Amino acid sequence: MTADASSVLNAAVERYYDTTLDLYEELWGEHVHHGFWDPGERPQGGAERKEATDRLVRELVAFAGIPAGSRVLDVGCGIGGPALYLAGELGCTVEGVTLSADQAKRANEKAREAGVAERATFIQQDAMTNTFPDESFDVVWALESLMHIPDRLAFFTEMKRLLRPGGTIAIATWSQKDGELTAEETKLVDLVLKHQVMPSFSSLEEHERLAVAAGFDAVSFVDWTENVANSWDPEFAMIKRFEKGRSLMMDLARERGVDVLGFFYAGPLMLKGFETGVLTYGAVRATKPVRA
Ligand code: SAH
Repeated sequence: MTADASSVLNAAVERYYDTTLDLYEELWGEHVHHGFWDPGERPQGGAERKEATDRLVRELVAFAGIPAGSRVLDVGCGIGGPALYLAGELGCTVEGVTLSADQAKRANEKAREAGVAERATFIQQDAMTNTFPDESFDVVWALESLMHIPDRLAFFTEMKRLLRPGGTIAIATWSQKDGELTAEETKLVDLVLKHQVMPSFSSLEEHERLAVAAGFDAVSFVDWTENVANSWDPEFAMIKRFEKGRSLMMDLARERGVDVLGFFYAGPLMLKGFETGVLTYGAVRATKPVRA
């Protein structure tokens, strides 16, 4: 992707999160990511939403083995939900970057409200052209942001630069099944990508290959598709409310531009993708070697 294409994409991602910030916050709270359940568990909605989204954060912490008190770079911090957990419960020092200035502002407000502003700060910056010095962090944390970044080998390479030797990268990401897709599968995937302003999905296996190619050690992944699929249950995703009121959606589109509708269209497509196995979801962890 050329520098031009990448700035067009970044501008679209920025616009998407600027225009949907209040929708996500009102409907989903401070976590802009899936929930996590044991296989077979059904979602209840309501207060359980936060329980399920908190659990995903805890699962990623456990899977990647993130030590309390780490210095963390949060790539794609949203409005800070996961970072506030890392800074609060785990006593980490977190620097978050997001393409959306509105999200960074809201995340800083929330950190102040939560009393962790000293340990959690958020700025608008492209993670791929960041200004942090080499070896600034113990942990790079990327929770559902890597799908927006087209060059994933460059991503792993850049994050390795930012980690101290022995540091850990922890990723949770939307993904697709490994290998070739059929024409019909490609059609579904392309629709999700378009609505969610994402350039492509990689398979979990591909993430593993790229992390190894970038020089990471101890690379592994886990497939959580079954654990997160409930997130798109129409009740749980809270999208039904809007589908019932199509005029409300049309008002939103008129006010904010049609991009905002991607928020509503992705749910049924994601469910179908998970059910048919073409879309997957998982976590990836890797360690920067102590000796290069
Ligand atoms: N991790 C947060 C937000 C996920 S939404 C949460 O789980 O709640 C995806 C986030 O990735 C948005 O904040 C978006 O701005 C960010 N993002 C996408 N591409 C990015 C890039 N190149 N640099 C920094 N942030 C990016």
